[in-house]
Amino acid sequence: MSTQIRRTMAALLILILLIPAVSAIGEGENVPAANTAQPVSPAAVLRNGSKGEDVKQLQLRLTELGYDPGKADGVFGKGTKTALQEFQKRNGLEADGEAGPQTIEKLFSGDAAAKPQPQTVDVLEGYLPMLVNKTHPVDEFLVPGDLVLLADVLDSKLVKIKYADTKAVREVAEALDEMLQAAKADGVTKWQISTAYRSYAQQEKTLNNKISHYLSANKGWSRSKARSAALRTVAEPGCSEHQLGLAIDINVPGASSFAGTKQCKWLHEHCWEFGFIVRYTADKKEITGFEAEAWHIRYVGTEHALRIRELGMCLEEYLEGIENGTVKLFPEQETDGTGENKENGEIEEILLDDD
Ligand SMILES: [Zn+2]
Repeated sequence: MSTQIRRTMAALLILILLIPAVSAIGEGENVPAANTAQPVSPAAVLRNGSKGEDVKQLQLRLTELGYDPGKADGVFGKGTKTALQEFQKRNGLEADGEAGPQTIEKLFSGDAAAKPQPQTVDVLEGYLPMLVNKTHPVDEFLVPGDLVLLADVLDSKLVKIKYADTKAVREVAEALDEMLQAAKADGVTKWQISTAYRSYAQQEKTLNNKISHYLSANKGWSRSKARSAALRTVAEPGCSEHQLGLAIDINVPGASSFAGTKQCKWLHEHCWEFGFIVRYTADKKEITGFEAEAWHIRYVGTEHALRIRELGMCLEEYLEGIENGTVKLFPEQETDGTGENKENGEIEEILLDDD
């Protein structure tokens, strides 16, 4: 092949490769994508009830930034207002849900803060159980990995799932199933799951509902008084174990109280064998910050659960003890018959009292 022909072929090849790129640039220039927001400068403040192209661009921009105003239909409704308020909060603006000049300027600027994306975390990854409480909150955007619908794992003949969309981490759901099968073998049936995984947003809603409940039930209570009362049984968003997908609220369908039922008695005797601990008990409320909750169990895995029962500790005490060396993870290893301990002696003696 002559040099001339080779050069011509190379030139043709380059041309062929360039054509799609050139035409793509052309498309981009001539036809703006329908879902890309264009900056606007509305004549009046956009608010609930506003309509038109400016509202549509506002909705498209909120969507681009990860806030969810619903369909970009050019009608400023409740969804747009909520999304706009979320944007305003995250961007240091007054969260009035109205798009005035300041909000519009920020929204279409390069430094408009987008809504952070959910972060999927393997909540069972570490060797020690994750601690979540009032002083150890988790990030708003933490979502546990491997969530499954309880209805897909549990036997519907053994347990009623109060809300069909209830999820938990798969390993937890499977341990729960195993536990309920064992309860049945012991003649204990009729269970209900009322809560398992609860997102940060759902937790926020749960707390607000509780505050409203106290406000309407107690004439004259201030909001802060109702909030304090609510926080005795409902965790602040980010401070609930339910956000880990490792906690289960289990009770008896139709019963007004769980404590005192035969199901409760069985649960408190046996849940440990399946990796669950009774998380909030009356004798530990000063440490956990929660009143006793007979129905709330937390998955920590069988080894930890049995050890925690043996030590009579709550999770806070257990983890602190491990950290400061007063708790050994597992009891003394048995000797191997030579009189020597199988362990190499590096682990310190248990320094716990029995009281
Ligand atoms: Zn609970």
